[in-house]
Amino acid sequence: MHAFADAIAAGASGEELANIPIPESYRSAHVLRSETGMFEGVESADKDPRKSLHVSDVPTPELAPDEVYVAVMASAINFNTVWTSIFEPLPTFGFLDRLGRESEWSARHAQDFHALGSDASGVVVRVGSAVRKWKPGDRVTIHCNSVDDQSPTSHDDSMLGDNQRIWGFETNYGGLADLALVKANQLMPKPKHLSWEEAACNALCNSTSYRMIVSKHAGDLKQDQAVLIWGATGGIGGYAVQYVLNGGGIPVGVVSSPERAELLHKMGCEHVINRKEAGYQFWKDEFHQDESEWRRLGKDIRGLIGRDVDMVFEHPGRQTFGASVFVTARGGKILTCAATSGYMIEYDNRHLWMKLKSIISSHFANYKEAWAANQLLCEGKIQPLLSRVYPLDEVGEATLAVHRNETEGKVGILCLAPEEGLGIDDPAFREEVGEDKITLFRSMG
Ligand code: NDP
Repeated sequence: MHAFADAIAAGASGEELANIPIPESYRSAHVLRSETGMFEGVESADKDPRKSLHVSDVPTPELAPDEVYVAVMASAINFNTVWTSIFEPLPTFGFLDRLGRESEWSARHAQDFHALGSDASGVVVRVGSAVRKWKPGDRVTIHCNSVDDQSPTSHDDSMLGDNQRIWGFETNYGGLADLALVKANQLMPKPKHLSWEEAACNALCNSTSYRMIVSKHAGDLKQDQAVLIWGATGGIGGYAVQYVLNGGGIPVGVVSSPERAELLHKMGCEHVINRKEAGYQFWKDEFHQDESEWRRLGKDIRGLIGRDVDMVFEHPGRQTFGASVFVTARGGKILTCAATSGYMIEYDNRHLWMKLKSIISSHFANYKEAWAANQLLCEGKIQPLLSRVYPLDEVGEATLAVHRNETEGKVGILCLAPEEGLGIDDPAFREEVGEDKITLFRSMG
């Protein structure tokens, strides 16, 4: 893949890139089927991705007619990288095996390695015979919604497609690598004013938060609505704060340190709760919750904004869900896309039905939503949240840092890009948007 890296650095044309041979194998971060039992008996928090994530060559899969190869310049860690690397809640090989049974082309995914990664920026180097809108040389970012466009269920909201999958998590050949195999309908233009790593870190979290806050499929935010955002300087939380502010809403951000509180203020989020300082104990013990603690959170919110929140951006799951349902205003929405602290959820249903609240599930985003979220990045209206950057060889360290909640925003990974700061094609627009805004989260790295 170095020939591609050199050619891209030298400004090679699409035609020149198309003439460079695709190697038979390429460097990727992957887990191994033979190691899925390696953490048996180990507490979740002590499972170490440095032990399970390997960086070495895997064989290059054949290209299907509706796919492209992308030379990956940079990628990013997502929380699904953590899940795959600690084999929780299940090893991802089950996803690959199920996909492998679907068709002849799908069979390529069922391997004894799982090359993971659900974000990337890079350059298209080959297109399949059925690809119309993209060509070698195109500079792209990749969204992770992998859908079968021959299924009728994919043609209203493709997230409802009966075999919808997350690329690089439920499929093989993901973005934490020098080469990625993606469907043409996962491609989006790279924001020209961002570096490779700034461009690579957004698509998964940015699109998820766009759907949750903005889209009619979930939040459908209106002006002046207040939204409680858990993990407000985390991956999805940091984009959610931006969407609420852009949409004329009022974010109430929850974080766990004064540094993160300060970062939220710099983002323009006026109302901040430090959950560590407040010391909420929503669970008295493993089986019982404490409603007086829910009330205390509600009181703190009212103390800040003078009323209840219209929505809660919910993803911690078991530890917070009961409180989230309680503090939502009458008729409000609890938007849920995850359960980091546990997926067996408990809440008091009386507070839901008597006050006509709704729990709305959300998962990634369809192509139209991902494209809209990417367009806002291209226009400088949403900023990347890159806080740290690691080389691909240190993907285990990077994943461990996210697993331990030591990072803010997004963690980038350099793949073929030899150093940070490359790939900026429109420095004038970058200046217009503002270096301080684009790099705000780097101060935390
Ligand atoms: P990050 O680790 O970047 O951020 C999560 C934030 O949540 C942390 O910054 C932390 O903030 C907060 N947090 C963690 N544990 C708790 C807790 N017990 N109570 C309250 N807050 C907590 O992760 P992401 O934002 O990228 O992802 C969050 C979750 O969403 C993950 O489970 C991920 O798998 C899921 N996800 C789902 C998607 C989907 O499409 N369904 C897409 C993207 C992510 P602090 O400590 O400062 O409060």
